[in-house]
Amino acid sequence: MTTFSDLGLAETILRALKSEGYETPTPIQAQAIPPLLEGRDLLGIAQTGTGKTCAFATPLITRLLQFPENPRSRQTRVLVLAPTRELAAQIGDSFKTYGRFAGLRVATIFGGVGFGPQVQALSRGLDVLVATPGRLLDHMAQGNLRLDGTSAVVLDEADHMLDLGFVVPIRKIFAKLPKRRQTLFFSATMPPEIATLAAEMLHQPVTVSVTPVAKTADRVAQRVILIEAKRKREALVDLLQNPDFRRSIVFTRTKRGADRVASALVEAGHAAEAIHGNKSQNQRSRALDGFRSGRVAVLVATDIAARGIDVDGVSHVVNFELPEVPEAYVHRIGRTARAGAEGEAISFCDHEERDLLRGIEKLTKQTIPTTDLRLAPNAAGETLPAEKKPDARFGRPNGVPAVKRSAPRRDGERRRAPRPSGEGRPRQGEAQAKRR
Ligand code: AMP
Repeated sequence: MTTFSDLGLAETILRALKSEGYETPTPIQAQAIPPLLEGRDLLGIAQTGTGKTCAFATPLITRLLQFPENPRSRQTRVLVLAPTRELAAQIGDSFKTYGRFAGLRVATIFGGVGFGPQVQALSRGLDVLVATPGRLLDHMAQGNLRLDGTSAVVLDEADHMLDLGFVVPIRKIFAKLPKRRQTLFFSATMPPEIATLAAEMLHQPVTVSVTPVAKTADRVAQRVILIEAKRKREALVDLLQNPDFRRSIVFTRTKRGADRVASALVEAGHAAEAIHGNKSQNQRSRALDGFRSGRVAVLVATDIAARGIDVDGVSHVVNFELPEVPEAYVHRIGRTARAGAEGEAISFCDHEERDLLRGIEKLTKQTIPTTDLRLAPNAAGETLPAEKKPDARFGRPNGVPAVKRSAPRRDGERRRAPRPSGEGRPRQGEAQAKRR
């Protein structure tokens, strides 16, 4: 079996990996590290949870050490672009962790926080800069950063960048990079727009593909609970009484929904917090730190806020509402069963969501085991009235007319496709976000 020391990484990195407790490289690490150390371009088809950050960070740090050079003021030797603040912060932390014995200058910049400290970090010059595209362009426009001395660039979660309308900013950034450079391009999915972008940016790349998105993590046990929409909160409170739910992420479709579910949980005595794009950076960091430390047992999140949350030991993912886009289901349940652990994903599915469940089962080529709670009595001992009893797994309750997907929900909130631009709001190309 391949070991980290077989791969040719710098000694200081091997030490850091050892102190992190990494024993064997994950498949993407074993396949990507050797060509990256040779300076090759890479097209990585991989989602978070595969170990991709270590797969790109460790060879890039090794190359920085092999070609020692003092970073010049307002320049960065390596640039990593990430779609969200959370992901940028995590990648920055990973570079610091893997490079902790290498003495590198690493900085992370993103929007929603002050410019001052970022300007200072840039003015000293950097080995590694991790940035979200909008704030990076702001700094470039203000003359705080030039990219003509950058020798390697990583574009992470390219498909997510596309969803957020970041393609135009990315093209602007790439136009300022030297033609001769090493380029790494990662995406969980490869729709035609992404393949075109990759072809433009990469030069004779090595392609590494791990766990295609349609294949859900094998170690995640999945089940669906068929339930009336209005009984979901009560059922969630019940579910979380189980002490096996040590560290759980609950997904809602909207930010308001996340707030409401989190409040209901807190009221029922659970240590829960909501995380979404309307929260300040400080609030988000506090919630995430609490979740990591165990102070917060339940994080209630929207898809975009949760993407890139890298917390080991998540025991359960609960889909309070199913996502509109089936691929998001795969990303959601990938939050658990990370780094070799086991996990469970439970999805509430109400009557209006049955088509979404079918879409997920089609994409993941599986039938998810189902428990039907629609006839179970609630806490008050009530069941559905007889004429509303469901007549089949997804059948409408007898005599109940079909509800149009766009009908207002009982709680007055209109069901609609998620607005990816609501969080980490891009300035340009928003129309692209409507791709799905
Ligand atoms: P990523 O796919 O980069 O988001 O990484 C997923 C998680 O796996 C992170 O928590 C890493 O710390 C962890 N990880 C990455 N590579 C390894 C490895 N070789 N052994 C154990 N854990 C790892």
